[in-house]
Amino acid sequence: MRLLLVEDDDLLVASLRKELEQQGFAVDVALDGVDGEFMGNEEPYDLVVLDLGLPGRPGLEVLHNWRQRGNKVPVIVLTARDAWHERVDGFKAGADDYLGKPFHVEELLVRILALVRRSHGVVSPKLQSGGLELDEERQLVRLEDNSEVNLTGTEFRLLRYFMFNPGKILSKTRLTEHVYEQDFDRDSNLIEVYVRHLRDKLGSERIETRRGQGYIFLARPDEFS
Ligand code: CA
Repeated sequence: MRLLLVEDDDLLVASLRKELEQQGFAVDVALDGVDGEFMGNEEPYDLVVLDLGLPGRPGLEVLHNWRQRGNKVPVIVLTARDAWHERVDGFKAGADDYLGKPFHVEELLVRILALVRRSHGVVSPKLQSGGLELDEERQLVRLEDNSEVNLTGTEFRLLRYFMFNPGKILSKTRLTEHVYEQDFDRDSNLIEVYVRHLRDKLGSERIETRRGQGYIFLARPDEFS
């Protein structure tokens, strides 16, 4: 999952970025509204955390402009704690959720996870697919026989994206875009390497290769094999 954080407070940006990366998110940052709006239109983010008080262009205007041109990216707005009217304006401009400042990072994290799940139509609080259950907190995966398999950071990011999109053909480019930050050296051959790791750990039947198109994570591997 790749997030865009639009926030002008350097200290908050530094701490949130660290925390979110530890939770297995790729994080891009925009420090003002103009860059934020541009990046939100150019890159396929899974979610945006948008501060409303921004230099360059106010967050509300950024959000309004995204929605105006049909950009449906899930957005959590950061509002001033007691400003109920900011929350109302945020929802009217197309926000999906809000959080009042100052906030605890833990609360932002659960809101992000909940919104990502909702945007993929996942109702269970646990991410389950293809007989696997992903423990997002401990970044490991549980197999049908209840055994646990540890994952590296990149394996976790990749598997989470697969599990949110079972049965879909995912190109290497798309996987790269959702697993790595913008400034990462995006050699899409890396995806091949990590797919191989996942197959070694979870069984090769779970991820099918479609030559020239990409990969499919099978929701019901036994039915296809
Ligand atoms: Ca601000």
